[in-house]
Amino acid sequence: AAQVDGLDKEFGTTRVLDRINLTIPAGQVTCLIGPSGSGKSTLLRCIAMLEEPSAGIISVGGRPLGFSLENGKRVKLPTAHNREVRGQIGMVFQQFNLWPHMTALGNVAEALKTVRRMPKAQANEIAGQKLDEVGLAHRRDYYPAQLSGGQQQRVAIARALALEPKLMLFDEPTSSLDPELTGEVLNVMRKLAEQGMSMIVVSHEIGFVASVASKVVFLDHGRVVLDGTPQEVFAKPRHPRLAQFLDTYL
Ligand code: ATP
Ligand code: MG
Repeated sequence: AAQVDGLDKEFGTTRVLDRINLTIPAGQVTCLIGPSGSGKSTLLRCIAMLEEPSAGIISVGGRPLGFSLENGKRVKLPTAHNREVRGQIGMVFQQFNLWPHMTALGNVAEALKTVRRMPKAQANEIAGQKLDEVGLAHRRDYYPAQLSGGQQQRVAIARALALEPKLMLFDEPTSSLDPELTGEVLNVMRKLAEQGMSMIVVSHEIGFVASVASKVVFLDHGRVVLDGTPQEVFAKPRHPRLAQFLDTYL
């Protein structure tokens, strides 16, 4: 679904991503784990074009995003091209970022109307279907303040799904939720995975990671330290830095 080749990201003189090479298989879940500050969000944000990489090439669905290599030189791609490729990526953040003055249905329908220029009735119909898929058909007319954190996050997922993404990025989608609400969000993600959605998930929910990921990538100090199946990555004896990470976070 996506490919990252030689990705560097620097903020000023600090390099936070260092020569990242990754293959994100289509129709599978790739989980990114690693300590705070290891670069997980920055990597997702580069793939979502929210940050501009300092070096390297990212491609999604076989098409370069942001930059391409031409005769060995890295050149910026046209905005229209980037917009189209970026349009295939959905992203869900730790903070749900719902519009407080819109209902659940309104939040999901909004981009369909504004970005996809869909008539209101059609946008609302699709939004209703997406809310149904995340188990919230009965909450369509509720405002975010009237919903639990888990419900708000499921609305955010429905909103991303409404744009029919080919690749979904999740950045710690459950870490601002009370423990009793994480399960409902992880279940929605598990269902998406079973339906064959290509996903990159940053999560500290190691049980979820071990059971849903086909591939686990362990980042430390901006580098890929481990990249393999959950069985390979979590195999004992554990890599010392992974063992230290698991001790600290679990
Ligand atoms: P966490 O688990 O805490 O979310 P992370 O692995 O997602 O951490 P990032 O948010 O990607 O880590 O940050 C990686 C490094 O880049 C950190 O040292 C951070 O301070 C730095 N960084 C991130 N964004 C910026 C920015 N806009 N300007 C300067 N430095 C930044
Ligand atoms: Mg982060």
